[in-house]
Amino acid sequence: MTRLRPLAILGGTFDPVHHGHLRGAWEAAEALDADVRMVPARTPPHRPPPVADAAERVALLRAALAGQARLAIDTRELDREGPSFTVDTLASLRAEIGPDRPLVLLVGADAFAGLASWHQWQRLFDLAHVGVLTRPGSAHAMADELAAFVRHRHATRVDGPAGTVVDIAITPLDIAATAIRESFAAGHEPRFLMPSACFADEALLAPYRALVTPAP
Ligand code: ATP
Repeated sequence: MTRLRPLAILGGTFDPVHHGHLRGAWEAAEALDADVRMVPARTPPHRPPPVADAAERVALLRAALAGQARLAIDTRELDREGPSFTVDTLASLRAEIGPDRPLVLLVGADAFAGLASWHQWQRLFDLAHVGVLTRPGSAHAMADELAAFVRHRHATRVDGPAGTVVDIAITPLDIAATAIRESFAAGHEPRFLMPSACFADEALLAPYRALVTPAP
C-alpha cells in the first residue's frame, strides 16, 4: 500500500509570524515527512484581540512563506464565523482529506501541557495525532487527567490516521510575538527574528509600526 503523506497543522495568532513558528513548522515537516499548513486563528477566546487584523496577519504569513511549497497557509478559521475551536478545524480537515491520511495537530510543549482545558479535547485524538514541538531540556507539568489519557498513546512515528502523541525535537529559538510587538512599540526594528521578506514591504508592518507611542 502506498504511504499516505501526513498533513500537519500549526495554529496560532501569528501576530506577527516569526522564525520560531516557521522553524518549528519546518522541522516538523521534515521529521514527519509531512506537509504543514499554518492556520491563523480568528478570535482566540482567551486572549486580547491581535494587533494586526486577519488580512494583515495573512499577508505577512504569505510574505514569510514565499519561495517554498512545504509550508502553506490555511485560512479556514478566518473564513468561518464565531470562535475557532481546534476540534472543529480538525473535523473540517478530516472531511477534506478523507479517513485514512494521517493528520497531525502541532502544538508547542507549553500549549500541550494545557490541552485538557481545550474544547472537547479528547475528541482531538479521534481526529488527529498530536505532534508536540519540544525544546531540549524543557519540561512542562501536565494535568493528571491529560497525563493518564496520553500515557499509552506515545509513539515515535506517526502511524495510522489519528490517536497518538509524537514528540518532535526542534531547535530551541526563544522568539515570541509578544517580544516582537514590544520591540516595534519601542521604535526598534526586530529584524532577523522574522523573515526579511516581512521587512521588504512597509505596508505589511504598518499595524506594528503604529504601536509606537508618540513622545508627549
Ligand atoms: P504571543 O507572544 O503573542 O503569545 P507566540 O509567539 O507564542 O505569540 P502564537 O501565535 O501564540 O505565537 O503561537 C502559535 C504556535 O506556535 C503555538 O503552538 C506555540 O507554542 C508555537 N510557538 C510560538 N513560538 C514558538 C517558538 N519560538 N518555537 C517553537 N514554537 C513556537
